[in-house]
Amino acid sequence: MKNKVFLNGSIKNDLDAKVSIFDRGYLFSDGIYELIPYFNSKPFLIDEHYSRLTESLGMIGINNPYTKKEWFSNIDNLLQNCEFENFYLYIQVTRGVPENTKDGIMREHAATKKYNTSVCMFYSEITNLVERNISGKKAITLEDKRWKQCDIKSISLLFNTYAKTLAYNEGAFEAILIRNNVITEGCSSNVFIVKNNVIKTSPKSNLILPGVTRSFVIDEVIKKNNYKIIIENFSEDELFESDEIFITNSTQGILPITCLNEKDINKGLCGDITKELYNIFIKYLV
Ligand code: PLP
Repeated sequence: MKNKVFLNGSIKNDLDAKVSIFDRGYLFSDGIYELIPYFNSKPFLIDEHYSRLTESLGMIGINNPYTKKEWFSNIDNLLQNCEFENFYLYIQVTRGVPENTKDGIMREHAATKKYNTSVCMFYSEITNLVERNISGKKAITLEDKRWKQCDIKSISLLFNTYAKTLAYNEGAFEAILIRNNVITEGCSSNVFIVKNNVIKTSPKSNLILPGVTRSFVIDEVIKKNNYKIIIENFSEDELFESDEIFITNSTQGILPITCLNEKDINKGLCGDITKELYNIFIKYLV
């Protein structure tokens, strides 16, 4: 069976869902998104994802078209057709098309009109996160050239996709971004290092996305299990000299980085602390 999608209140076959080319999401990337993982058919941290969605909408002044109850009921309707057990739900909300186009102006930078907010949702399978062999991945480092409002989960991902493609071309899974000699985050992940059994990650700020997995890992996995963590900025040197590196996001959970540019981290193996955290983390998913 083909996947279904949600578009502005209707459930459609994927290829039948069409949006206007005058949607400001299409013309200007004027919109935000959210991605909620499901494990064993259960949403993981859905309230946290929903909060971030409403915060992102608020930060760019897009009306939230639904109440929380309506959102969850729309999601339930869409997922009635979902046959996956492990998958992510992608939600995109754009400012949409002007309500009134009588003036003939279809594209203007300033959002001066009333718009019909547009919402689409679809789902896609997540394969083998829980069973995954924790063998580690390569990452590269790159200068963080994004704008300085990275705490909005904007659909404008031009730099992120460009940088991730560079990483891919170098056989790497992620590009870790550096701004003024400070590690910010990955293109689609938050970054943690371990040195002498102390874990470090950057604080929340406008320069990183407040990852839902990041917060969960800090509070429920690291602190509750009495690992030491310092939440402060760290430099490129600290990154390269760390004993272990791992990244977090909703579809990968905790993922060890065992090679950075051409340098092996922890001799190219997943470190003990990362492994322990990973084992604690996946218990929450089953
Ligand atoms: N940072 C960026 C830039 C991201 O795109 C993502 C996820 O896509 C994350 C961090 C991790 O966020 P989360 O744990 O909420 O998936």
